[in-house]
Amino acid sequence: ATKRKYLIAGNWKMNKTAPDGVELIKGILAEIGTQTEVGVAICPPFTALESAAKALSEANNIQLGAQNMHPEPDGAYTGEISASMLRTFYVSYVILGHSERRQYFGETDAFINQKVLASLENNLKPILCVGETIEQREAGQTLAVIEEQVKGGLAGVDKKHAESIVVAYEPVWAIGTGKTATPEMAQEVHAAIRKMLADVLGAEAADKIRLLYGGSMKPANAAELLAEKDIDGGLIGGAALEAKSFAKLVEAAA
Ligand code: PEP
Repeated sequence: ATKRKYLIAGNWKMNKTAPDGVELIKGILAEIGTQTEVGVAICPPFTALESAAKALSEANNIQLGAQNMHPEPDGAYTGEISASMLRTFYVSYVILGHSERRQYFGETDAFINQKVLASLENNLKPILCVGETIEQREAGQTLAVIEEQVKGGLAGVDKKHAESIVVAYEPVWAIGTGKTATPEMAQEVHAAIRKMLADVLGAEAADKIRLLYGGSMKPANAAELLAEKDIDGGLIGGAALEAKSFAKLVEAAA
C-alpha cells in the first residue's frame, strides 16, 4: 500500500481580515518551525489570500488553499472567483462542496462536480467535502448519502489525478458542534469511501487519495482519529483559528 502523506488543512471560513490572517500565519510558522513530515494547508477567505501568500513566501511547509471557486474560467458571474484567479495567489488547494455551501448556498453534487473538474484542469487540488446530517445517520442512510456525494462529486475525473485529490469526510452533525465521530465511526466511513473510490477509479488510485476527517477535531481527540488506517489527516475549522491548537494538530499527525 502507498504511504500517504498526512495533510492537516485549516478552514478559516468567514474569519480573519487580511492583517489578522498574517498574524495567525506568523504564529503558526513560529509553532511548527521547519517540519515537512506532515503536509499543512491553510484556507483563508479570498480577501486574505494575497497577504497570506506574501507571508508564506519564505516558508516551504505551508500551502495555501481557497474555500470555494466557480467552475467557469471567467465571465458574467457576479461575486465569484475562478481557478486561474486563485492560481495567481499561489493557491494549491481548494475546498469544494463544504456542507455549509451545500446547506446555505444550495450547491448540488452536479455543480460541485463541475468545480472539481475545473480545479484539476487548473492544477488546483480539490478537497471534496462529503458528510451526512444527523437525520440521515439516524435513518441508516449514511453510506448511501456519502456514496452519492463521492461518486457525484468525482464523476468524469481521470485516475491520473489521484495524488491531487483529497476527500474530507465531515459528518454535518460534528461540524462546529463539539461532537466528534468516534475513531471507529470515522474509520468505518473512511474505509467505505476508499472502496467507493476504488469502484470508480480503481484500487491503485484509491490507495493514493488522501481522506481527511473533519468535525470538531482538536488536539484532545486528533491522535486517536489520525491513528485509524484510512484517516490521512484532518480538515479543521474552529481549532485552526488559533496558532497553538493548529500546530498541535500538525504535531499529532507527525
Ligand atoms: C469544517 O467546517 O470544515 C470543520 C471541520 O469545522 P470544525 O472543526 O469547527 O468542526
